[in-house]
Amino acid sequence: MTLGEALAVARQQIDRLDARLLLQYASGCTHADLLARPETPLSAPAALQFADWVARRAAGEPLAYLVGEAEFRGRVFLVTPAVLIPRPDTEVLVELALLRLAGSEHPRLLDLGTGSGIVAISLALECPAARVIAVDLSAEALMVAANNAGRLAATVEFRAGDWYAPVSGERFELIVANPPYIAADDPHLAGDGLPYEPQSALTDGGDGLACLRHIIAGAAEHLQPGGWLLLEHGHEQGAACRNLLTAAGFKNAFTHPDLAGSDRVSGAHL
Ligand code: GLN
Repeated sequence: MTLGEALAVARQQIDRLDARLLLQYASGCTHADLLARPETPLSAPAALQFADWVARRAAGEPLAYLVGEAEFRGRVFLVTPAVLIPRPDTEVLVELALLRLAGSEHPRLLDLGTGSGIVAISLALECPAARVIAVDLSAEALMVAANNAGRLAATVEFRAGDWYAPVSGERFELIVANPPYIAADDPHLAGDGLPYEPQSALTDGGDGLACLRHIIAGAAEHLQPGGWLLLEHGHEQGAACRNLLTAAGFKNAFTHPDLAGSDRVSGAHL
């Protein structure tokens, strides 16, 4: 079978872009190779790998788990089913954090629920003056995150535990989090690929605000005076987050849209 033939068959079963990317991963060829030499034969092992991936993708398994990696802010991160797959939604959280870090000399930064580490690692690399501490409850997730930090040469201190538990008595200039915020009864949880992701990273099992509430409630005793809290949340949770922040004594609560224009990050300072 040729590359072109394999691609044509796969496109009948899965999304065109997924088909092309999986063929590139399976065969080692580039997009340019596929366009310029579609008549190149596909080796037997590559054809088997590709057929297996196409069938699994057709059944719903996310591409990132099949190939074991995903891109975020131009960097490649390892991902396993122990961590949420990076989403472009989270770009704005990093952008807003960088703006807040810009003024400080040696800011201490805390990332709660780091998962694959994309937020902590991106911030450590893009703000080298910052000392970054990243927490996750899942030991498996922390192994993935530490692996990513090593591969990308980022200095991040990883700690295992429940939200603020591993940073008891410590204060930071900035706290960021992309916690589970999808309500347990939200049909989105059954969407493409989501059933394969760690449910504890997607939903709080309740109304979607439980973790956001918990993080906001504990933030004041872990922030320096004037310190910022920035939270990723669902597109309908902006007002609730701003209200929670204001009620907890934070100032100037705001909500910012993601790249797709949906409300995605709220923040405020002490
Ligand atoms: N933004 C993700 C989604 O809608 C959810 C991420 C999260 O719960 N932290 O699929």
